[in-house]
Order: sequence, then C-alpha cells, then structure tokens
Amino acid sequence: MKPAMKRIAILGSTGSIGQSALAVVDAHPDRLQVVALAAGENAELLASQIAQYKPRIAAMATGAAVDRLRQNGSTAGVTIADTGRDGLVSVATHVDADVVLCASSGTEALEAVLAAIDCGKTIALANKEVLVMAGALVTEAASRRGATILPVDSEHNAIHQCLHGRSLAEIRRLVLTASGGPFRGRTAAELAAVSAADALKHPTWRMGRKITVDSATLMNKGLEVIEARWLFGVRADQIDVVIHPQSVVHSMVELVDGSIVAQLGVTDMRLPIQYAFSYPERWGGPLPPIDLARAGRLEFEAPDTAAFPCLRLAYRALEAERSLPVVLNAANEVAVARFLDGRISFNDIPVVIERSLDAHRPAEVTTLAAVRAVDTWARAFSQDVAGTVELKL
Ligand code: MG
Repeated sequence: MKPAMKRIAILGSTGSIGQSALAVVDAHPDRLQVVALAAGENAELLASQIAQYKPRIAAMATGAAVDRLRQNGSTAGVTIADTGRDGLVSVATHVDADVVLCASSGTEALEAVLAAIDCGKTIALANKEVLVMAGALVTEAASRRGATILPVDSEHNAIHQCLHGRSLAEIRRLVLTASGGPFRGRTAAELAAVSAADALKHPTWRMGRKITVDSATLMNKGLEVIEARWLFGVRADQIDVVIHPQSVVHSMVELVDGSIVAQLGVTDMRLPIQYAFSYPERWGGPLPPIDLARAGRLEFEAPDTAAFPCLRLAYRALEAERSLPVVLNAANEVAVARFLDGRISFNDIPVVIERSLDAHRPAEVTTLAAVRAVDTWARAFSQDVAGTVELKL
C-alpha cells in the first residue's frame, strides 16, 4: 500500500530549521509534500523555494520583501498572503496543510499557532517562545481541540522519544542536556568583555543568531525548561539541566526506579524534524548513525548559575508562572538584540532581564490579548533598562 502523504506548512522556511525541514522533505518525496511557506525577509531564498516546491500559498513579513519576492521569480499559481502576523495565520491554517512546522524565531507566530490548533492541525513546534509566552493558552487550546503538539527542539524531541509509551506516573524527572555554549567554564569576570562575535561561535550546533546568543547565556536552556513544563505537563522541580559539552545525549528521562532513558544521536536538526514529521511512525533517513567509538568521552557537569544567571532567572519565572515568563522572554529578546548591536555587555543581558522581572507585578494571562499586553509592557520597560545600562559602556 502506498503510504499516506503528509502535507506540510512551514513558518520560517528560509531559516536554519526551515531549510533543514525542506531537506527532510527532499529525502522523503513519497511521504512529504510542501503546501505552504512563510518567510521573514529573505525573498531571494523564498523565491527559489517556491520554484522548487510549488506551494499553494506563501507569505513574507513585509511589503518590501513581497516586492523583492516578485522580482526574484515567478509566483504564478501561488497565493501571496498578507504580510505580518496575518500572513502567518493564512499559511498555518491553509486547508491543505496537515502538519504545521513552526520554525520562525521570536513571538510573531503565536496567533498562527493558535489558529492552526483551532483548525485541528498537528503542530511541529521548533519555536520555544510560543510556549514560554503562552504555554497554558496553547496547551489548553490543543487539548480542547484534540490537536497534537510535537516537539522539534532537539532536547524535547529526545524526551518525547524517551517517554514514548510511558505514563506520567513512571517519571521522576526530565533531564535536559545543554552544550554549555562557547563560554562554558568561564567566570563572570571573564565574561565581562566577550563580544557578540565570540558569542556567535557555538561549539556543536549551527543555528540562528538570537538562539546562538541564548545558548551562550544559558537562557536557551532556561526557555527550554519552561517549554518542557508545558509540553510534558511536569512541575518545575521535575526538570533538571545538566551540561554535556559533546551534545551527543540530546536529553534524558529519569524513571521512578532510578533508571535513566536517554536519546543519543548526531547533532543535526534533520533528525528531530524527521521524527516529528514521521510520528507516530519512524522512517529511515539520510543521516549517518552516530559513531560512539569516535564520539569517545561523554561528559556531564552541573550548570554554573553564578556565571550564567539567565538559567536561574528562567526557573524563577517558571515557578511564579502567570505572566512572569512573558516578561522573561520579552526582556531577553530586547537584551540580546542590544548585545548583538554591541550596545550592552554580555553580563548586562541578565541584569536587564532581572530588573524587568523585579518591576513586574504578576498577573493572570488567560487570553492572547493579555499575553500581548504584558509583552508590550515588558519590551518597553526592558528597552528603558537597557538604555540606562548602555550608558555605562
Ligand atoms: Mg534545543
């Protein structure tokens, strides 16, 4: 029997995850078909993706990007959606899409993910900000609608694999592994003068700029702790982080009897993306298996939250729940953008975030409008804080 074709929509098709997803589609042309693509500003690459995959609908972030898209190739037969969040919604809810891969960075795709859930689509979630901002809203909508959210983030994808067929009652804790980033082992004093260029040199994973800086501060792991809480329905004190520089063990689950189940694999995002696309099946693939003898030593150590306070701040936000994770995420985005522009120092990133958390009075965020209102407040407040920090440089 011919296998059923899964029809894929990709939010963020020109980014690192989006391109890896298209490589997975290329490897399985008999099982995966691209029907909808959304990109930010990279019109040249989206034009070539449209030529190759012939989606029914495509969207870009801005009108200027759409103009460049039309100059770069034919869009005949392709519906060009509105720009901005509306375009993401149109792509994510296209009637032909079965699975929506959310691989755009930041929080622009929140409405689109909720709209796709409302349509009953399966969400392959590579974006962690969506769950950090609106974890309760998104997971409640998914369970109400019976929509599945499949994690693509490598750690959560690993945990999803380790949990396969187990009940929550068997689980003592989840253990997220972290590479430690390019500054592992350094003290806070040694981190004072590191530059954006230094932070962008990640030892094991090749990713976008924002997430690479988040990996250097350990905020990426902090956001992943919050993401894990919502994806797997566990408490903050059931989620641990261990530094594992080789990034061979993608994450682990400790069971109530003390057994630990781990998932190991090559550091290539095509592996988790393919698992999310194939789930509940598992397909063969083009990636080589991991060569354990060549991998050699696997090391584990505790994270240093004195040098990397962002991880501690993420736990603080998660334990407070309500609106604090929204503030954490927004302040982090503001601080990282300022750091990438060379306007604040590496060690000022957690300062901006912590002052924003301190200034915020936690509130319930049970609607999208409430989430966006806290987000707007936090961005404005953290811009001001970053401005005062900036003057010290
Ligand atoms: Mg990850």
